[in-house]
Amino acid sequence: MTDEQHDERIAALDRRLAEVRERVRRACAAAGRPERDVTLLLASKAQPLPVVRAAVEASARTPGPVLLGENRVQELVAKAPALLDLGPAWHFIGPLQSNKVNAALPWVSCVESLASLELAHRLAARVPDRSAPLDVMVQVNVSGEPTKSGVAPDDALALARDVAAIDGLRLVGLMTVGARSDDEAVVASGYDRLRSLRDEVLASGAPGTASAVGLSMGMSGDLELAIAHGATVVRIGSAVFGGR
Ligand SMILES: *Cc1c(COP(=O)(O)O)cnc(C)c1O
Repeated sequence: MTDEQHDERIAALDRRLAEVRERVRRACAAAGRPERDVTLLLASKAQPLPVVRAAVEASARTPGPVLLGENRVQELVAKAPALLDLGPAWHFIGPLQSNKVNAALPWVSCVESLASLELAHRLAARVPDRSAPLDVMVQVNVSGEPTKSGVAPDDALALARDVAAIDGLRLVGLMTVGARSDDEAVVASGYDRLRSLRDEVLASGAPGTASAVGLSMGMSGDLELAIAHGATVVRIGSAVFGGR
């Protein structure tokens, strides 16, 4: 890459990041929610390290914190150590295989894609310090699409309560990948479902559930809709990094 190409790429990242910030700001205003309610997570899958580095640097020039998200352990362990100097927090947002837990854990501050009690116990067993629990979210498949990960909505409350009770984990909310549909009402009803499940988890009063306030939902195409329905984390890939 020439210097010029590099500068262009940085300028484009700055521009797209500012656009996404503006979309978040407007969506919060429209929903009557404070902007600080919503955290931007940059989904860096398939993006090369220099681009991710540039995006984190660009994000530091905008107000508000930014999280990074990875779907694959292989990419996480390649990128996270190389960005330690910038200190971003990483969320794991893809399917996590049991045999990859050890490799992933040192680098993540939150596993959003928790969908089984078995994985929860495996994670908890590897948390080095019980006084510093690992943040987790339970991933729910609100759309029921067979290609999507996550626990079925009917099983979400039980799993969330079980997870919340595990020493070494801190349940911080629920996550979903919205329905793949052009019909906004279909996507919105999935987000509503996630929010009411989150409310049920909180209302259960079960041990460890009081911290489960988060809702990670919404991506580049529908962050406004997700924010209108209560998202606290929006996971943005293409709108910041450009098309994949
Ligand atoms: C890729 C990905 C995103 C971001 O998707 P975009 O449509 O590119 O914004 C969000 N969440 C998960 C789980 C992803 O895999």
